Amino acid sequence: MKGESLITREKREIEGRADSDKTIDPANLDMLQVARRSGVETVFDRLERQEPKCPYCYTGVSCRNCVMGPCRITAKADRGVCGATADVMVARGLLRNTLGGTASHVDHARHVALTLLHTARGEAPYAIRDETKLRSIARALGIEDAENMEVNRLAERVALIALEDIGATHANGARWVKMHSTQERIETWTELGVLPEGGMLPILEGMHRTSMGNDADPVNLVLGCIKAGIADGFYGLHMSTDLQDVLFGTPKPKFARAGMGVIEPEFVNIACHGHVPILSEKIVEAAEALQEEARTAGARGIKVIGICCTGNEILERQGIPAAGNELNSELVIATGAVDAMVVDYQCIFPSLVQVAQCFHTKLITTAPIVKIPGAEHIEFDERRADEVARKIVRHAIESFKQRDPGRIHIPQFSSEVIAGFSVEALLEVLSKINNRDPLAPLVESITKGDIMGAVAIVGCNNPRVTHDLMHVELAKELIKRDILVLATGCAAHAHAKAGLMKPEGCTMAGERLQRVLKALGEAAGIGAMPPVLHFGSCVDNSRINQLLKALSEKLNVAIKDLPVAASAPELTTEKAISIGTWAVALGVTTHVNPLPRIMGSELVTRLLTEDAEKLLGAKFIHSPDPKESADMLEQVILEKRRKLGLQT
Ligand code: SF4
Ligand code: SF4
Repeated sequence: MKGESLITREKREIEGRADSDKTIDPANLDMLQVARRSGVETVFDRLERQEPKCPYCYTGVSCRNCVMGPCRITAKADRGVCGATADVMVARGLLRNTLGGTASHVDHARHVALTLLHTARGEAPYAIRDETKLRSIARALGIEDAENMEVNRLAERVALIALEDIGATHANGARWVKMHSTQERIETWTELGVLPEGGMLPILEGMHRTSMGNDADPVNLVLGCIKAGIADGFYGLHMSTDLQDVLFGTPKPKFARAGMGVIEPEFVNIACHGHVPILSEKIVEAAEALQEEARTAGARGIKVIGICCTGNEILERQGIPAAGNELNSELVIATGAVDAMVVDYQCIFPSLVQVAQCFHTKLITTAPIVKIPGAEHIEFDERRADEVARKIVRHAIESFKQRDPGRIHIPQFSSEVIAGFSVEALLEVLSKINNRDPLAPLVESITKGDIMGAVAIVGCNNPRVTHDLMHVELAKELIKRDILVLATGCAAHAHAKAGLMKPEGCTMAGERLQRVLKALGEAAGIGAMPPVLHFGSCVDNSRINQLLKALSEKLNVAIKDLPVAASAPELTTEKAISIGTWAVALGVTTHVNPLPRIMGSELVTRLLTEDAEKLLGAKFIHSPDPKESADMLEQVILEKRRKLGLQT
C-alpha cells in the first residue's frame, strides 16, 4: 500500500531515538533527562507508543463520517459502504481538517470582536490603545465620519460589523476579505466560486458537504478547502490581529529574551499558554499590581513568561520573555519553578495535567470550551477580566509556597530577541531612510537583489520531526542565500531561541542581505536588524499578507508574481493546514512537512501540488530535508524574479 514504506521508515526512525534526534533545543535536551528521572512522560514518549501509524489514516483513505462505517480502502475494497472512493475520502478528510483550523481562528476573532464590543460599551475593563488603527479600519470598512466619531462609538460600530461579517451568509458580507485583498485576488476567487461571504459559512457548508451522501467530487471538495482557507485568513487571522491591535496596541520592536532560562527561581513564575492576549494582557497587569503580595510570600516578585502564541502576543506587545514553543510546554513545568500555568485555548496538551501533578504547579484552564479533568478551572469572562486575573495571580502566589526547592532545575539557555515587527513598525523604520516613500528602500533592495526575496516560516512543532530543527536549519539556509525570513508562531520561538532574532544574528546572513540589515538597523538605532523578523503569533500571519498587499499595490505586480514563498516545516495542527491553504489561495507557494493525510489520492495530491498553480498561481511543495526545502523555496523565488526581469 502507498505510504507503507514511509510508515515503516518513520517507525524505525522514531522508536528508540536518541534525545538529540528528538530536539535541538538545548534546554529541552537537558529537561528530557530531568523528566526521565522524575518519571514524567512527555509527548516524545507517547509518540513512540503510537508507532507504527495506521496506513489507512496515514494516507487518508479511511472514513468515519457515518455509522455504516468506519470504512477504509483496501486491496479488496476500492469504495466505502456508501460508494465513496479513495479520492473522496482524502478530499473530505482534508476539508474537515481545514474547517477545524478555520473554526479555531474565526472563533478566536469572534472572542476579540465581542471583547471590543464590551469595551466600547463600557462593560469590560479594557481601553482602545490604538485609536489610529481603529480609525483606519473604520475608513477601510466605509464607515461614515470615521475620522471624527467618538472613539467608543466607532469601536462599537467596528465590532458590530466584524460580528456581522463572521455570521454573514449572503453577498453583503465579505467586508474583511475586501478590506485586505487585492482586486486581482477578489476577481480570481470570485471566478473560482471560492470567495467566502462570511466566516462561519464555509464551516457550515463544509461540514454539510462532507457528511454522508453529499459532495463526491474531489475537485469541488478541494475548492471547498480553498474557500475555508480564505475564510480563515480574513475572518480569522486578519480580524483577530486588527482588533487585538486596536485593543492592546500595534506591536513595536522591543528587546526581550527567549528560552527556558528566562524562568527565575526566586520569583513566582506564571506561564501564559494558548493563543489570545485577552486574558494574558490582564495577567501581566495583575502580576505588576500584586508584586508586594508575592514578596510577602517570600518571593522576589512575580514573573510572567509566555508559551506558544499567547507567549508571542505578550512578547510582541509587552516584551514578556518567551519560555518556549509547543514542544517545550510540558518540560517547562518539569523545571519545578513554574507556580501556575494559565491556559486559554488551542494547542493545550491534555497531558499538561499529568506533568503538573508531578510538581506543585497549578494548571489553570479558563475557557468554557477548554476544560481538562485534573486542572483547576477558573472561568474567564472579559467583563470580569481584572477580578479573574487577580484571582489567578493569587493562586500562583499560594502555589509558590508549596514549591520543593530541591526539585528545581532550570536549564540556563536563553537568547536575546527583538520582537514586534508589525508592518506599521517596519514602515516606521523604513521611513527613517525615506520619509516620503517608506516602501521605496525595500523595493530597491529587492530589485537590486540585495534581498533576493522573502520566505515566511510559520507554524507548529511536530514531534515526528526533530523539534525546532527544520525551523532553524531552513532559516539559516535561506538567509545565507540573501533571502529574508519572517516568522510567526512556534517557528518564531524556535528562531528566537536559536539567536536568529537578535542583531548579532545578522552575521549568519549572506553578505548582501547583511548590508541591508545593517543599514536598516542603523536607521532603527539597534545596530543591525535580525535576519529573521519576529512577525508575531499565528493569527499575525495576517501581517505578512498586509506587507505583500502593500508591495503588490506599490509595484503593480500581483502577489502571485512577487519573489516570496512560505513554509510550515513542522506542520501539526489543523490551523496550520488552513493557514497554508490561505497562503496558496493568496498566490504564495507553500512548503509543508510532514504532509497532511493526502497520499492515498493521486488526484488530490496532484490538485494541490500541481494544478493549484494554474488556478491560483501557487501550489504546495514538500520536502522533509531543510537543505532540499531551501533549494525548492529558492527556486520558487528565482523563477518569480526571472519572470519579473530581475537579476537572479
Ligand atoms: S460516509 Fe461512506 S465511506 Fe464514510 S463511513 Fe459512511 S459509508 Fe463509510
Ligand atoms: S504554531 Fe502551531 S503548535 Fe504553535 S501555537 Fe501556533 S498552532 Fe499551536
